[in-house]
Amino acid sequence: MQNTSAIPPLVERHKDDLTGLADRVWGMPETLYSEFRSSAEHAAMLRAKGFRVTEGVAGIPTAVMGEAGSGGPVIAILGEYDALPGLSQVAGIDHPQELEEGGPGHGCGHNLLGSAAMLAACAVKDWLEATGTPGRVRYYGCPAEEGGAAKAFMVRDGAFDDVDAAVTWHPGGMTRVDDPLSLANTRMDFHFSGRAAHAAAQPHLGRSALDAVELMSVGVNYLREHMVQDARIHYAYLDAGGKAPNVVQARASVRYSIRALDLHEMLALVERVKKVAQGAALMTETSVEFQMFAAVSNHFENLAMDRVMQQALDELGGVPFDDLDRAYAAKIRGTLSPSDIAAEWSVVNQPPTEAVLCDWVVPMRPNGKVLIGSTDVGDVTWKVPTTEVLVATAAIGTPLHSWQMTAQGLSGAAHKGMIHAAKAMGRVAEILLSDPDRLAEAKAEHARRLALTPYTCPMPPDHKPPLVPQPDAA
Ligand SMILES: [Zn+2]
Repeated sequence: MQNTSAIPPLVERHKDDLTGLADRVWGMPETLYSEFRSSAEHAAMLRAKGFRVTEGVAGIPTAVMGEAGSGGPVIAILGEYDALPGLSQVAGIDHPQELEEGGPGHGCGHNLLGSAAMLAACAVKDWLEATGTPGRVRYYGCPAEEGGAAKAFMVRDGAFDDVDAAVTWHPGGMTRVDDPLSLANTRMDFHFSGRAAHAAAQPHLGRSALDAVELMSVGVNYLREHMVQDARIHYAYLDAGGKAPNVVQARASVRYSIRALDLHEMLALVERVKKVAQGAALMTETSVEFQMFAAVSNHFENLAMDRVMQQALDELGGVPFDDLDRAYAAKIRGTLSPSDIAAEWSVVNQPPTEAVLCDWVVPMRPNGKVLIGSTDVGDVTWKVPTTEVLVATAAIGTPLHSWQMTAQGLSGAAHKGMIHAAKAMGRVAEILLSDPDRLAEAKAEHARRLALTPYTCPMPPDHKPPLVPQPDAA
């Protein structure tokens, strides 16, 4: 295996096209399962770059896949392009100002995420062709990461069945291999049905679905004392049964998000929350139906893959930001609270400095304070050996899902970070495809861990993704 990577100059060859794609996707923010224009842009770019393209992967209209190469192992590079509701924001400024009132925005940087993943795939495609190496690279355009669990559906549908290893990244404030931790998460709706009645004249004839939802909350609040460490339960009312206090509420619905560090612990917790709901129904003489919305698994560690990624990062060094990047990042820093900034430093286990952009590489597994969310990358990590890298694209301390993240989505730092991420991911694919031992090591580790805790899809086999209809092309 060569010690110098052939990937960086190949990334440079395609960077303008893919940076353009990232900017266009930023300008057409689309939320979960409505990424019709963004996925069409991704499909068009894949075709222009000579990939064999499959649209509608796993029956999801906005999922797209492009493949290049032949024979050999299959390396998947995962991208995303969904935006978030309510995070519309003008780019390049340092105060909150909506671009479209109440509109969506790329507050998690997924415009960069998808483009960098495809940029990496373009470089690996060129490298496979130039060297005649047997192997295939696939770009997976995965929609609906934000709450839609598209990758879990894609895994369930077999989209990764013949994949040997997967690579992905996420934009943010620091450059490092991601900690192998995320929470398994089930979003489930509970619909209670009772009987309406005049709340003053005939209250004894009414059976309140709203009471049932409230008693369920009480029961869940007692359950918290007896859950596994790091489990989380949150809820939001979907329907409180109407606005008339003089009518006993015949229907009421609540959505629960039930999370735990381990897939199997989460599945057990979901069953306990269902029992609480049944208890609430019993107490109120109402009935309850459970409706799965979406679910994802936790991140399944693969140390061998993470070591390959750390090697790729160490070879590359930090993102080469310039003074212009630092000047804008300093303005953004002025809008962040000290606790925002301290939180990012605590994750990498270092005392805060005056640095506004991370132009270095954090050592692997810094043993810092872990702030854990959930992602549908989790299900891919259970299916195939996977590594995820975080690459600096924004000022240190910028929270994800914030106006500041949207504002920095077209910046020089964002572009440099996305190109850097492509080089790191492409290098991982290059190593895995040219050194069979490294790939075999990752696969053996995966098999060993899976033998101890087998994967269970967190969604029932007949559960469909919560797709949205395509608006008429007018
Ligand atoms: Zn994200």
